[in-house]
Amino acid sequence: MTFTPDRPLRVLVVGSGPSGIFAADALIKQTDVPVQVDVLDRLPTPYGLVRYGVAPDHLKIKSVTAGFEKTLSDPRVRFLGNVSFGQDLTYEEAKAHYDALFYTFGASSDRRLDIPGEDLTGSMSATEFVAWYNGHPDAAAREMLLHATGVAVVGVGNVALDVSRILSKTVAELRDSDIAPHALDALERSPVNDVWILGRRGAAQAKFTTKELREFGELHVSEPVVKPEEIQVSEADEQAADSTVKKNLEVLRDFAARAPEGKERRLHLRFLVSPIEILDDGQGHVAGLKIERNRLSDSGNAVGTGEYEVLPVQMVLRSVGYKGVQVSGVPFDETRGVIPNESGRVTGRVGEYTAGWIKRGPSGVIGTNKADAVESVKLLLQDAQDGTLTPAPDTSREGLDALLRSKAVEVVTLADWKALDAHELLTGQAQGRPRAKVAHKAQMLAVIQDERTRGGRG
Ligand code: NAP
Repeated sequence: MTFTPDRPLRVLVVGSGPSGIFAADALIKQTDVPVQVDVLDRLPTPYGLVRYGVAPDHLKIKSVTAGFEKTLSDPRVRFLGNVSFGQDLTYEEAKAHYDALFYTFGASSDRRLDIPGEDLTGSMSATEFVAWYNGHPDAAAREMLLHATGVAVVGVGNVALDVSRILSKTVAELRDSDIAPHALDALERSPVNDVWILGRRGAAQAKFTTKELREFGELHVSEPVVKPEEIQVSEADEQAADSTVKKNLEVLRDFAARAPEGKERRLHLRFLVSPIEILDDGQGHVAGLKIERNRLSDSGNAVGTGEYEVLPVQMVLRSVGYKGVQVSGVPFDETRGVIPNESGRVTGRVGEYTAGWIKRGPSGVIGTNKADAVESVKLLLQDAQDGTLTPAPDTSREGLDALLRSKAVEVVTLADWKALDAHELLTGQAQGRPRAKVAHKAQMLAVIQDERTRGGRG
């Protein structure tokens, strides 16, 4: 069939993170096929990892949401928050109401280390810790007892640097961030003095970027500690280094050469060490981390040397990558943690597409998802023009709304989100902060209902 302004191509984007919004934006920016897009999110808030993943002290990165809001404000686009795909709206129901489904629900779980002691109290994923301090509703109720004086963070990607930096900042430094109020309170009481960041391979193999690394040298009460012998790199690695690696090595060498400033907290950047076992204090709590020194094999892998050391930590955060989670009705590759796809077309399905971390795995920065979403949207538009899609029987917005109403789903609209956003900004300002996030879902919905009543919207 040919899609027209009266019978536009109806697309459901599942997930309102950067990839979902970039996809919606690419769909409305083209003129070949008239479209209508609904952007679904299981949370009442849009923007996914920008709100819940990006570090709270990296506010500049979050300014992309201004453009995202513009996309969601287009009359051809709707934000449908607080609607869980697979539950509130099943796969079959979605197929009956949309010509195409576009999955962009990211990678919400984490990879494990598979070492003894990983389930002790005080050992968790960086993903959980990030969700907690960013006020994610799934983690807001979590009791995070920050009694540790020493913390080990396993992995040397940007997420590891984020969590280590947040743990090393003072409350005065964090007040300018949009860290969740409950996390700010807990961190104020945190006695942490030493954070160890552990890379299993060498400094030339670290995944973090230089801007984030440099920040370690600019903290008020914490200083970076680097062992010169652990950042030595081979001639071959030096030759092969790209510009990021070169700049990282420069900063690390500068850190290693610095005389200790005697600050009250330390950020230890360690390389060529692997976690072997998380030690138990006898009562189920973390009492230390046993690590093994490594050497690099010719192929660049970490090989244990049989030399061990115990770090005096009471908390271990594994920051070794995010992992996708299966959603009901959607194909899933367990090994890779992604939806099987060919350049964004879901393998073996008609009219289904994917973009972002659930398409390619958890890599890249926010902007990376733009090109990735555009690639998939191109295929969707091609299929729409080729007549490959199976048109859905009831594509009216009213039909979908009636279905959700019949299931008593409390849909959060863009206007609702804007009211909640304004509430958070105002409450934050009153406390001298950029924003005071509402973390509990019930509380979000209460604020929204309150604002609806006040605005005469319900
Ligand atoms: P990542 O960059 O892939 O880093 C994962 C780290 O975990 C690597 O150092 C990896 O080492 C290590 N690792 C994996 N398995 C391990 C094991 N069993 N034992 C010890 N170490 C292990 O992942 P990420 O930090 O979660 O970041 C995800 C993406 O988000 C990245 O693209 C990142 O750049 C991006 N991000 C960007 C920002 C920013 O721009 N400010 C902030 C946060 C995240 P190997 O290399 O040896 O495997």
